[in-house]
Amino acid sequence: MIGGAIKSTISRAILCCVYLTFAADSAHADVVIENVNIVDVENGEITEHQTVLIEGNRITRIAERFEPPVTAERIDGEGKFLIPGLWDSHVHIFSSPNEPDTALPLYLMHGITGVRDMGALWPIEDQQALQAKIETGTVLGPRLILSGAWVDARPGSWPGMFLADTPAEARKVVAQIEEEGWAAVKSYSMLDEATYLALAEASEGAGLRIVGHIPERVGLETAIAAGQDGMEHFGRIPMACSTAEDRMIGELRAAMEREAAREEVFAIMASRNRIILESWDEQLCLRVLAQVASAGLHVSPTLVVADFYLGNWPSADAPRMQLIPPQVREAWGRPDFRLQAMTDEVRGLAQESIALDRKTFLLAHRAGVPILASSDASFANPYLFHGFSLLDELDLYVEIGLTPREALYTATVAPPRFFELGDQDGTVAIGRRADLVLLDANPLEGLETLREPHAVIVNGRLLDSEALAAMGADLREKARSDE
Ligand SMILES: [Zn+2]
Repeated sequence: MIGGAIKSTISRAILCCVYLTFAADSAHADVVIENVNIVDVENGEITEHQTVLIEGNRITRIAERFEPPVTAERIDGEGKFLIPGLWDSHVHIFSSPNEPDTALPLYLMHGITGVRDMGALWPIEDQQALQAKIETGTVLGPRLILSGAWVDARPGSWPGMFLADTPAEARKVVAQIEEEGWAAVKSYSMLDEATYLALAEASEGAGLRIVGHIPERVGLETAIAAGQDGMEHFGRIPMACSTAEDRMIGELRAAMEREAAREEVFAIMASRNRIILESWDEQLCLRVLAQVASAGLHVSPTLVVADFYLGNWPSADAPRMQLIPPQVREAWGRPDFRLQAMTDEVRGLAQESIALDRKTFLLAHRAGVPILASSDASFANPYLFHGFSLLDELDLYVEIGLTPREALYTATVAPPRFFELGDQDGTVAIGRRADLVLLDANPLEGLETLREPHAVIVNGRLLDSEALAAMGADLREKARSDE
């Protein structure tokens, strides 16, 4: 979340072992959805009265009328709308030992059939073991992309990070990340420029994407020139739209070079919000955004994180609070280190800064900056909910000025294309992996219908409304019995 520079209070307890309380039957019937409206999220067209056959985990036939296999499970799609499954491109499902038990069903209940994990406290082997079980269907969950190989300067902003303080260390770390089989390298906030540049170069050499935070001491233009592929969070865009970006970076570098106290370093970073508000320049911003767009730098905005700083929290008895473990609810209710680290001045500025972020976000979208809808959901991030928060993020995009179709694009079409998944590209078409959501209303007219899918198909497996409701009931029951 915030700049990533603040040392986490998370305990360094050794995390291991997956105890999933549910398991899927890996063999399942073929599925046929009859007489449905298929939504093309890319160009906003709807093809009516289609019958869609799913065999195994693939869409194998789409036509107006045909006789499906007698053994297939049939769903009446009359008056319903079929879209590709949603992606949340920035989550943390491995921040505590049993987190997937809650996270996986919450994603499926919200039609999210793919998530990219951006930083984990579980060993990579355990993450990969869960990923494999999801792929074979022995565990029911969204498709997982393991992108949490975060690399930071010592001592590291979070426990368990890869650490690099020199270009040589950066190269070594990339070799290890490649060896361990991560999907990408994630740069983090406190890397110095020389180390970061070596990290970017080594990533490219290894054929790995470099995504993550633009380090606090590196300019956005430098990161683009270094070949940064993905940028997590949005704050560095308004900062690059400030005529004072160089000055802010210079000030931080100078402080770190003279080994200033941690508090001073944080104070310098915290002072940036005011400076950006005073020096944000629209003409400069348009030039920066054109550069970001033409570089194809994919931004995962996580705008919903702002709710935390606005104090925009659900009440303790809100329905979504009843679905998460009581220990998590309790931890979220305690004053957070991130809030404690905020000075009064920063708190006072939060509202204005958030408004500026949103204004800049709309400009970025209009400039063609590729956006990957992202929530930063994690048990470790207060009030950012698996599942719910991605839909909150999409609603926010619409509130800011995107059309429902444009918002939906950032969660369906853009992610699988950026991840270069051969079997998925955000279209409902023959040969594609069957990750689909069946909705009661046309999502191009409003996203409310995403809150309660009629059915979700994940990796070819049908979850009808009863199955989805049962998942919610199980989570509520489990949360109650753990109280
Ligand atoms: Zn995150």
